[in-house]
Amino acid sequence: MERAPLIRKTAHDLRVPPHLADYAAECRTFSWDAARQALQGLPGGGLNIAFEAVDRHAAGALREHIALRFVSRSGPALELSYAELARQTNRFANVLQTLGVGRGDRLFVLAGRLPELYVAVLGALKNGTVVTPMFSAFGPEPIATRINIGAGQVLVTTDVLYRKKIKAMREQMPTLRHVLLVAEDGGSTDDPGTLDLGALLRAASDAFSTVETQADDPALLHFTSGTTGTPKGAIHVHGAVVTHHATGRYALDLHADDRFWCTADPGWVTGTSYGIIAPLLHGVTSLIDREEFDAERWYRLLETERISVWYTAPTAIRMLMKAGPELARQHRFPELRFVASVGEPLNPEAVWWGKEVLGLPIHDNWWQTETGGIMIANTPAFDIKPGSMGRPLPGIEACIVEHLEAEGEPPRVRVLEQPDVEGELALKAGWPSMFRGYLNNEARYRKCFADGWYLTGDLARVDADGYYWFVGRADDVIKSAGHLIGPFEVESALMEHPAVAEAGVIGKPDPVVGEVVKAFVSLKDGFTLDEALRLDILGHARKRLGAAVAPKEIAFLPVLPRTRSGKIMRRLLKARELGLPEGDTSTLEGGA
Ligand code: ATP
Ligand code: MG
Repeated sequence: MERAPLIRKTAHDLRVPPHLADYAAECRTFSWDAARQALQGLPGGGLNIAFEAVDRHAAGALREHIALRFVSRSGPALELSYAELARQTNRFANVLQTLGVGRGDRLFVLAGRLPELYVAVLGALKNGTVVTPMFSAFGPEPIATRINIGAGQVLVTTDVLYRKKIKAMREQMPTLRHVLLVAEDGGSTDDPGTLDLGALLRAASDAFSTVETQADDPALLHFTSGTTGTPKGAIHVHGAVVTHHATGRYALDLHADDRFWCTADPGWVTGTSYGIIAPLLHGVTSLIDREEFDAERWYRLLETERISVWYTAPTAIRMLMKAGPELARQHRFPELRFVASVGEPLNPEAVWWGKEVLGLPIHDNWWQTETGGIMIANTPAFDIKPGSMGRPLPGIEACIVEHLEAEGEPPRVRVLEQPDVEGELALKAGWPSMFRGYLNNEARYRKCFADGWYLTGDLARVDADGYYWFVGRADDVIKSAGHLIGPFEVESALMEHPAVAEAGVIGKPDPVVGEVVKAFVSLKDGFTLDEALRLDILGHARKRLGAAVAPKEIAFLPVLPRTRSGKIMRRLLKARELGLPEGDTSTLEGGA
C-alpha cells in the first residue's frame, strides 16, 4: 500500500499542549545547567536520582498521588502513593545500612515486576548503592556472569528464583555477601544463607536521609542487550537524572495527570530509565503489568487503565499487528494521546498501523544503553516522516561522521555536512546521562570516542530537514556488488506485504558479489506458507527495492530469534545460516 511520506499532526493529536512546541527556539535556548534547575537537588548540593523521583514529590502536593500501580491476573491491583513509596524505599535503604552495604557497593535485582523490585532499585539509589536490575527469565549462567563482572555484593530475588537459579551456583559468586528474598505467593524464605526481605523491611525505620551523592557518582550498571555480541556493562551516574527529566518532558511529553505505561522490563535500560525513573520525576501514575505479552490483555489494559501515554517497542507492535485488527476494534482508547516506541527501527508500516488502529501514529525514538536516555525522537509537535527516528532533542548535538584512516587510538572522524549521506551516527559527548565506562573494559570505552564525539556504532543519514534515518548497525550492513545495503530498508519493504509479520535480513557470503541479501520472514496469523506466497513476497520486494537490493533468498520461520528486550538477533540468523558458532546467547528470548 502506498502511503504519504508525512503524517501531519492534527488538533486531536495536540489536544494537550506539548512541552516541546517550538523545536528551533527550545534547541537554541536549552542548557543542561538550566535543565538541572528544574530538579531540587539534595540539601547539601548533591544530586540523587531517587530523591528527585520520589522524595521531592512525597514532601509536596503529590504526596497522596499514585506513583506505581501494579496489575496482574491473580489478585487485585496494588497501588503505591508517592508518600508510601518514599517510606518503603527509606526502609529498604535502612536495611542496606544495617547490613553494612553502602555507597558505591553493588546490588543486583532478579525478580519479576514486583513492587519489591521497584522499592529495592529506588531504595538502593537513595543509599548511594549501585543497582543492576536483571531480567528474571535469565538462566543461572547469565546471572552469575553479570554478578561476577559487576562484583555484586547484594542480590534481591524471590524464593522461587533463588531455588531455581541461584542456590546451586552460589559458590561461584564469591563477591555475593547477602541474598535478600521476597516470598512469592506465600512461599517461604528460610533458605540457609539468605535473609527474609519482608521481615527486614518491617523491622526497619521508614525515615532515611538520602546519602549525599554527587552528579558524577555511579548509580546504575546496565548491561546492553547483546544483539551484536557479548553484553557490555555500561556505568551510569546520578547526574543522568537531568536527562531522564528533560527527555520525559520533551520526548514522552509527560504531564503530572498522565497515566503512563512503559511496557519494557526493568532488566533492560528502557524499563529503568523510563519504566521507573522518568515517570516518577514527572509525578505521573505508572502502570506496571506483571504479566507477559498478550495482545488481548494489552488492548484491554490500554482501555481500562485509561492509559494516556504509552511507551513500547517495535517487537510488541509487530506482535499486535500479527494478531490482526479485529482484536483492536473491540476496544476504544479515548484517553490515549501519545504513543512512542524504541529499541529497533520502527517500520513505516507500524507507524501507520498506530494511526489506523489506535487512532494515533507511533513516535519512534532512538537511544542506547550507553546514552542512558532518549537522544533522537519524534515528539508530539513534529509532523512524522514514517521510517525516520526523528530529530535530536534539545541539548543533544548529533551528526553523521566517517572514519578517517588513522593509526591507533583515539580514532579520527570527519563530520559529513551534506544531507542524505550515510555514515556513523555520532553525538557530541557530554550530555548528563552519557555512560562513564564499560565495566572492566576501558579500552573498548575509549574506542567509542573521537574528536569529542561519541560514536554510536549505528549507521544513519540525516535529511535536509534534520530528520535522522536509521540504516543499520555497523556490524549488520550488507555489502553486495559494490552497494552498501542497510537491513532496515529491506525489512521495511518486506513488512509492507500483507502476509509479513516480521522480517530479519542478513548478508550471505557470495563468491561473485561479496554478499547476497537473504531474508527471514514470519507470517501474520491466517496466512499459510506456499510457493505462490514466497514468490509473491519476493516479487513485492523486487518491485519496491530493485533487483540489486531485494533479497535473493527468503526463508520462513515461525518466529525470529530475538533478545529479551525484543530485538531481532541478525547475528544469530547469520551464524545459523552459515553453520557458525552462535556466540553469546545469554539474552536470547526463550533461551534461558
Ligand atoms: P549490544 O550493544 O549488546 O549489541 P544493543 O545495542 O541491542 O546490544 P541496546 O543498548 O539495548 O543494546 O540497544 C541500542 C541499539 O538498539 C541502538 O544502538 C540501535 O542499534 C538500536 N535501536 C534503538 N532504538 C532504535 C530506533 N528507534 N531505530 C533503530 N534502531 C534503534
Ligand atoms: Mg549496542
